Amino acid sequence: MSTARALGAALTFAVLAGCRDATGPPEDDSLFTAPIVGAPMADLFYGAYLDHDPGGGARDHACGLKAYDGHTGVDILLRNFQVQDNGVPVIAAADGTVTWVRDGLPDRNTTWEGTSGFGNAVEITHPGGLSTIYGHLRRGSVAVSHGESVRRGAVLGLVGSSGRSNWPHLHFEVRKDGGPLDPFAGECSPTKGLWADQLAYQDAFKVTDAGIADHPLTYAMLLERPPTVNAFPLNAEGMRFWLQVANQPAGQTRFELRAPGGTLRDAGQAQVGASFSMRYLLVDVPVNGYLVEPGAWQIRTYQGSKLIHTQPFTLLPVGAAVAGEGPATPSLRGTFPSAVRVFDQPPGAGAHP
Ligand SMILES: [Zn+2]
Repeated sequence: MSTARALGAALTFAVLAGCRDATGPPEDDSLFTAPIVGAPMADLFYGAYLDHDPGGGARDHACGLKAYDGHTGVDILLRNFQVQDNGVPVIAAADGTVTWVRDGLPDRNTTWEGTSGFGNAVEITHPGGLSTIYGHLRRGSVAVSHGESVRRGAVLGLVGSSGRSNWPHLHFEVRKDGGPLDPFAGECSPTKGLWADQLAYQDAFKVTDAGIADHPLTYAMLLERPPTVNAFPLNAEGMRFWLQVANQPAGQTRFELRAPGGTLRDAGQAQVGASFSMRYLLVDVPVNGYLVEPGAWQIRTYQGSKLIHTQPFTLLPVGAAVAGEGPATPSLRGTFPSAVRVFDQPPGAGAHP
């Protein structure tokens, strides 16, 4: 081997060794690798794991609360539908044979109402009585056919929100002899684990996105990721500030309005419950007759005493030609910050397949 080739091989090894998703096939080819392309806590956010609680509660493999009653797989979420539109590949976790596919169902569901099941989905059967299911895929994205042999890492489709889904995500489920099995090892899981390299428990609290809009927002509109408006005239009706977070612990969330120069103009807080998945916090901020000083403002958000986000915006003298101009509506006056709305994934109790 020439020096150049040896160096190339060493570099290749170094790159592979440094990246958990590119380490190649595991030594035991019955073990699973990641069923989706992307980096956890950067592109992908783990919501509910499989529920091990035999009663009406929920408990994950690590005896934590990242599960809901009756959940039979693991949910891996994207930030929003824009990321879904970009196309996030769902890939085979191991070699096997495609034993079920479905495609053609709507893939932008934002509620569990009126929908059921995995939506667009693929099932792969592996040796040893194991099968894997990849649910809620994007319409028209299923890339394999019934009876086809697939290799580990083969693209099966793209992440969507079809079937009983209220957020773009992959539901990955393992079954053994027809029943759900947790691929994650942990104190509360009866299995020894089925991953070649089990991902660490994904419970870190993180602000995953934020913005300001010049119009009222619904949960479905937030999932479309509304464009952020950074400047408003002083006679604008108001602003809608939103924050997207993962794994928010229970506690006081405090919002501060900081005037130009950093002066505290107003503040308030809301008690929020814990979220084991992703959620939106939405706050209406009136402008006309409430914020009277032009210049560079901030909305600072704290969890307990810790600053978790700073959102800048600019107030312009009346007459500046920007979006959102209009009279303040009585409904916005005096609402900040008492009216914090929380939109959770999942929206509440109840099993989904
Ligand atoms: Zn699920």
